[in-house]
Amino acid sequence: RYDVVIVGAGHGGAQAAIALRQAKFEGSIAVIGDEPELPYERPPLSKEYFSGEKAFERILIRPAAFWEERKVEMLLGRRVVSVDAEAHSVTTADGATIGYGQLIWATGGSPRRLACAGNDLAGVHTVRTRADADRMLGELDGVSQAVVIGGGYIGLEAAAVLAKFGKKVVLLEALDRVLARVAGEDLSRFYEAEHRAHGVDVRLEAAVECIEGEGRVSGVRMASGEVIPAQMVIVGIGIVPAVEPLIAAGAEGGNGVAVDHQCRTSLPDIFAIGDCALHANGFADGLPIRLESVQNANDQATLVARTIMGQDLAYDAVPWFWSTQYDLRLQTVGLSTGHDATVTRGDPASRSFSVIYLKEGRVIALDCVNATKDYVQGRKLVVERLSIDAAKLADAATPLKELAA
Ligand code: FAD
Repeated sequence: RYDVVIVGAGHGGAQAAIALRQAKFEGSIAVIGDEPELPYERPPLSKEYFSGEKAFERILIRPAAFWEERKVEMLLGRRVVSVDAEAHSVTTADGATIGYGQLIWATGGSPRRLACAGNDLAGVHTVRTRADADRMLGELDGVSQAVVIGGGYIGLEAAAVLAKFGKKVVLLEALDRVLARVAGEDLSRFYEAEHRAHGVDVRLEAAVECIEGEGRVSGVRMASGEVIPAQMVIVGIGIVPAVEPLIAAGAEGGNGVAVDHQCRTSLPDIFAIGDCALHANGFADGLPIRLESVQNANDQATLVARTIMGQDLAYDAVPWFWSTQYDLRLQTVGLSTGHDATVTRGDPASRSFSVIYLKEGRVIALDCVNATKDYVQGRKLVVERLSIDAAKLADAATPLKELAA
């Protein structure tokens, strides 16, 4: 039995253990993770790790010695299959039962798979783990044409790396613009144009019929009958939160596990954090959402560690996120969903600009492309939901910090 058991050795799980020790928690801690590796950063899997710019050692969240010194027991390569909330124990796939005082569920999610025929052919990939990225890297030499399905951040980032490698890339997006779920139209159109300028064939409102091939993928058949030849297909169409054992144990939820302002689930002594935690978010008008970002996983982990240490806090962190594609660094703050107006600050043609999202005259989010100053200074506008004249926001000569003062 451990005082704290953390299920999931990813961003949230690692940070929960780090924050507990930082807060001088002296009890025993075990982290159970189904991947074989120590916790590592996931964002580089579609960026610097995939492109070969960063070796695996450089994306470890902490070196091995860190966990040993802080007496955090890493039980890796082990999957939790059930939870007994009454007995305060979890069972792993190898049949072991591990008791806990408090449980932190930080399991993230698994990539959604295509429902169509051929989705299991060799050469069809999703990107969530180091093993996924290594499988793709191992096949790259034999690939001249690739199809990326899904125009979200992961799909776009993977397409950018493949294009950099000189592959012929077709990107298929089912909706009428890329990044439709997370950004406004101006940003979508900017990224579509950038990808096209880098040789990526971006196709919108694309309807995939099936994946073709004998054992290995050879192409993607569209509803129109056209077959796009490909030796590799990367599918980036979102995740399914990994919460089955908790829901089976009686926790409330569905699309994620429901948590309160302290990340407590409906089961006693069980918290949930990160991608799998369905929480009421103040930056989404208090609606229940799941956030898939490193920031959210880290902040919820830190909150839970402090809650375990007896502090009385509520989750109210401002969401932020980044994405790198080609030489473009996008940094976002706030959530743009539900905006009713946008202001573009700076000229997209200069490849350094920001889109500011407003709702009822108040700033709710910023998407900053190669514009770190706006991102840093605009944060306050979002946190305080300031009401600022659109003409002033659009005037790139006036620093945002002056408007926030
Ligand atoms: P994870 O980090 O996924 O960790 C969950 C761990 O739990 C995994 O190791 C999983 O295998 C394990 N697990 C699941 N079920 C069980 C079980 N039953 N038993 C044991 N272990 C289990 N976010 C950003 O903010 N910026 C980015 O640029 C960005 N880029 C990304 C690029 C890619 C390719 C991916 C995949 C994600 C990216 N993200 C990015 C999202 C970010 O990585 C996630 O939001 C973050 O990892 C969430 O942390 P988590 O702890 O909830 O889940």
